[in-house]
Amino acid sequence: MNRELSSGIDAWLRGGGLVVTASERTARFLTEAFHRARRAEGLTAWPAPNIQDWQTFVRNAWSERSTDGRIVLNGLQEQALWAGIVADTSPQAAQLAGARDRLGSLAMEAHSLLCAYAPHLLKESARSGWDQDAAAFSAWLASFDEACRAANLLSAARLPHELALALAADTSTRSPLLLAGFDRLLGTQRALFAAWGEYAEVSPGDAASRIEFHEAADPSSDLAACALWCKRRLAADPKARLLVITQDVPKRRGEIERAFLRFARAEDGSTGSSSLFEFSLGVPLSQVALARGAGLLLRWLDTPIDEHELDWLLSTGQIAASPDESMALTAFMRTLRRRNLQRTRWTLADFIRQKPGAELPAAWVARITQTQRRLQESARHSQSPPAWAELTPQFLEGAGWPGARPLTSTEFQAVRRWRQTVDDCASLGFDGRHIEWQEFLAALNRAVNETLFAPESRDAAILIAGPAESAGLTADAVWFLGANEEAWPAGGATHPLLPLVVQREAAMPHASPKLDWDLAAVMTRRLIASAPEVHFSYARQSEGVDARPSRLVAQLAGSPQTLNAELKAAPVPDPLTVSFADAGQLPFPSGDAPGGSSVLTAQSQCPFKAFATSRLGAQDWDPAEAGLTALERGSLLHEVLHSIWAGPPNGIRTHAELDALTDLHALVADHVRRVLQAKMPSRARECMPPTYLVLEETRLINLVTEWLRYESSRMPFTVLETEQKATASIAGLALHLRLDRIDRLNDGSLLVIDYKSGNPTPSSWDLPRPDDVQLPLYVNFALHRDPNEIGGLVFAKVRTGETEFAGKVRDAKGTLRSKISGNSNLVKKPLTTNQLSEWKEHIEHLALDFLAGHAEVDPRDYPDTCENCGLQALCRISENPPLPDNSKGEEAGDA
Ligand code: SF4
Repeated sequence: MNRELSSGIDAWLRGGGLVVTASERTARFLTEAFHRARRAEGLTAWPAPNIQDWQTFVRNAWSERSTDGRIVLNGLQEQALWAGIVADTSPQAAQLAGARDRLGSLAMEAHSLLCAYAPHLLKESARSGWDQDAAAFSAWLASFDEACRAANLLSAARLPHELALALAADTSTRSPLLLAGFDRLLGTQRALFAAWGEYAEVSPGDAASRIEFHEAADPSSDLAACALWCKRRLAADPKARLLVITQDVPKRRGEIERAFLRFARAEDGSTGSSSLFEFSLGVPLSQVALARGAGLLLRWLDTPIDEHELDWLLSTGQIAASPDESMALTAFMRTLRRRNLQRTRWTLADFIRQKPGAELPAAWVARITQTQRRLQESARHSQSPPAWAELTPQFLEGAGWPGARPLTSTEFQAVRRWRQTVDDCASLGFDGRHIEWQEFLAALNRAVNETLFAPESRDAAILIAGPAESAGLTADAVWFLGANEEAWPAGGATHPLLPLVVQREAAMPHASPKLDWDLAAVMTRRLIASAPEVHFSYARQSEGVDARPSRLVAQLAGSPQTLNAELKAAPVPDPLTVSFADAGQLPFPSGDAPGGSSVLTAQSQCPFKAFATSRLGAQDWDPAEAGLTALERGSLLHEVLHSIWAGPPNGIRTHAELDALTDLHALVADHVRRVLQAKMPSRARECMPPTYLVLEETRLINLVTEWLRYESSRMPFTVLETEQKATASIAGLALHLRLDRIDRLNDGSLLVIDYKSGNPTPSSWDLPRPDDVQLPLYVNFALHRDPNEIGGLVFAKVRTGETEFAGKVRDAKGTLRSKISGNSNLVKKPLTTNQLSEWKEHIEHLALDFLAGHAEVDPRDYPDTCENCGLQALCRISENPPLPDNSKGEEAGDA
């Protein structure tokens, strides 16, 4: 009902009259309503209504009357012209392309404001007193005028002014106009309509018979109340059309979608014959997957792109000719990561060159390299924008975009919009310029960012719009969300390139609080007249700060009232899934487990982690790093220490040999250089500058030298083994291990050493649930020695400025370092045979649990254990977190 045309507009249109609307959306809305009305009358054919939005009306009227052949610039063309002028007149301010384009856009905006609000200032002499940034803009504007005169161009912002002059000189009779959806007429618009002749504005309807103002506790209750109200309203009248008004739609879009999907759907999930809700405003085209993919692919054909961008592009299937090809591409990427061949950025050539043990599909390689060659050949010379616009879809299609998958209707529309945007960029050739490929691509990216994409309307029951966009729309009922004092009237910034006094005098947007208030008052009254039932709501608290209701809304709708119970969201409903304790276990089928001791460390930290990593192959990926990763640095450190302690001819074996060295630094430097030559990952050599590699070498030499100086302060020892491979068999589970180092101490016992560049502590071995079992497992199951022969197990902390041993030793003072402090844990908490057997027993239990298939989601210390795990998406611990362990706090309190 209230989405139908008012009888006045309907009669006007039926009589062949022209309606001019403030926006394209209002024009669409009225057109749809007109057709609905004719269908309701049982007609099968009727003349199209004459409805034009403001921009179209001005352009059409101008093209009918223009006689001087001036070309009207479109937005892209004008922005390019402004950016060029900025670069020519202020080269220092616009050295970078991004800054030049931003300044060009700002200047274009300032010019539009002058055209709309203060056209008398378009004369250069009227701006003579402007200083600083405004003076710079004034100079740009003079150059812009000159450029337009020279090339016979006309800014679209000048059209209303120019058209008013042309109309004044044209004495022919014109049919009257009916104006709809204008919250206020600017001076330029009034002048144009007056020059046109007769016009009238659609009078607002009667104020709503029901106006309410609600107070919610917080923004999410506010949103939930609105969605629940929509649900009730649609349940009572499934044909109703509702309008939801909110500010910040782009920022809150996801939150609004979630709330409406959760609260506004009917109990049976149905939405009648139409969609439940849609947004009036689209999203930037650059945020639509297909457009983003096209942009990334075009960049990748010419320059490197970030690894996460490439990962995303491959995962979308947008550059694959078949599902198999898509799977092969993602598998190739996975293999690169598994082989530690990740990079922060990838060129196409580097990606294709990799041989990680998986193959790229030959057809894909042929297709994409051929396309790249074609682009490179084209890019040797600058070309006209129309030529680039013609080539761009060919590059994309040559590389396989948008993929083999059939497109949905929305995707099809997005591709069409993308192609239109490429065609729009062809218009950059308006001045006959030739540009480089990179310049065309930058202009295309800018255009894609600035273009809004909204799928065709599905006549949804709920339309979500911003306050300004809703001008001219009517509905059965309206809900205005977030009407607090801070947000409504909406404030904003003044323009930085125009003098403040000019903005105030011309009543430009946000030039004074009163202007904001007046405009918001007009909009609020218009909203109140756009439906028989209008609700406003605000949240009492937002982000922990108290908020006040909008005074403007309170003046028109009365003081806010606490939400009715029916508009309050019920507590989270019971989940549709039923939780049950899964006692099922899948025994481990064979004796060999991948991952060495980490399997049982994971089993102790969280049984599910062991199951997922060892049996499902689940793996968390760290983002690629520019230099060496922590893992690679650790591995190089191990290699250097292995090389030094490998014994003659190049290395040493004993404490005595270490002590006898005359130039320790030189020995270390020699080993470091040899190791780096042989083991430095090729990725680092290719990607990093030589200076970085020299710095890494120096860092490693200093670190190892510092460590060996610390070792020289030990009691005599002999290195028996370094990097020794061993197999441990635990309750039938075979683990393949590598021991960093085993020393024979001065009492004949053995010391098992694990090099660490981090900061581990032996408390991680503490029972009943150790955080790490690596060394206890080595000494109990891989050494195959009498427990009494074990002198200790220690972490060798090889860290700049913090070198030390940490662990358990039977007699630290007698066998490790005579000068060790009596307060050291190595002395105070010595290793005992009993401890060794307790560890042994516990590790056997862990192995039996793993073999039996115990895979409970049971982190040993939630949430700390989970923080570095990376399997949250698989175990879904966040959905079902463990109950807090109060015993920790009690123990601390007792202590
Ligand atoms: S995230 Fe936590 S609960 Fe999930 S597998 Fe890892 S340790 Fe276990």
